[in-house]
Amino acid sequence: MSLLVVGSIALDTVKTPVEEHADLLGGSASYAALGSSFFTPVNLVGVVGDDFPESEFSFWRSRNIDALGVQRAAGKTFRWSGEYAWDLNTRETRSVALNVFEAFSPTLPANYRETPFVLLANIAPKLQAHVLDQMERPRFVVADTMDLWIETTRSDLDALLPRVDLLILNDSEARQMTKETSLIRAGRAIRNAGPRFVAIKKGEHGALLFGEDEFFSCGAYPLEDIHDPTGAGDTFAGGLAGYVAANAAGAVNFELLRKGMIYGSVLASFCVEAFSLERLRELTKAEVADRYQVFRQMSQFEAAE
Ligand code: AMP
Repeated sequence: MSLLVVGSIALDTVKTPVEEHADLLGGSASYAALGSSFFTPVNLVGVVGDDFPESEFSFWRSRNIDALGVQRAAGKTFRWSGEYAWDLNTRETRSVALNVFEAFSPTLPANYRETPFVLLANIAPKLQAHVLDQMERPRFVVADTMDLWIETTRSDLDALLPRVDLLILNDSEARQMTKETSLIRAGRAIRNAGPRFVAIKKGEHGALLFGEDEFFSCGAYPLEDIHDPTGAGDTFAGGLAGYVAANAAGAVNFELLRKGMIYGSVLASFCVEAFSLERLRELTKAEVADRYQVFRQMSQFEAAE
């Protein structure tokens, strides 16, 4: 079943301690849509400027990503620039230019309104809500957010939470949002604010999933070579939401979400192996299936006697 993805489409400049690359394709929706396209057809919503490469539209088409909902506006594409510290875990934003994003108000094509699954990738919570306003009762809504919105538009985010089934955020954001030092308390507190499920990402240390009386903790796939962590979170969200959309025969339950967490982690582990979307562009479904198996073997342990 198809998945609607809305978020940013960007041209990024990324600096790591060893390399720097400019004008790379990025943005939360670009990573999320490509991540989910391994499992399900995607309806993509976003905005690009007149400097955005036309070739990307044909790439999306080749991956079953429908870009009818991507507006092309006069002006420049959203630009973001970030620099990573030596551990590749801490990042500083060097610059942000909203450009065509400044006046963006997503309008869904009529045939997108009944898409059963939704991923609100990271953009302003007001825009995420505006997309939901145009939809006919989606079956399951996943949302991602970031520190900026927790700081600057908290009331918009709080208003969105009861409309979300699964909220995904990282550990520092969960602590920032709840003022709790324990991630377990933070996960519970966020659930009490609306979403039925909460996923907290811990970067290279894995992720946690909270349900009503259910809890799941998984590691991250261990990698030797990380080139660019940009988009790992968005790709995780895309893999998770795409897997759930493709496999939810009935109601979305905890077991399905646990598997989705692993597929999200697998996709994210490929994402960081190269700059921008380069690794994901050439990735095959067979490689995803193989890494899922290896990850499963690595994470298993025996029952107590
Ligand atoms: P992640 O590494 O998962 O946090 O996502 C990185 C992506 O988020 C980059 O490709 C950026 O273009 C995009 N991004 C950065 N800041 C924002 C923002 N304020 N709103 C939307 N997308 C953003």
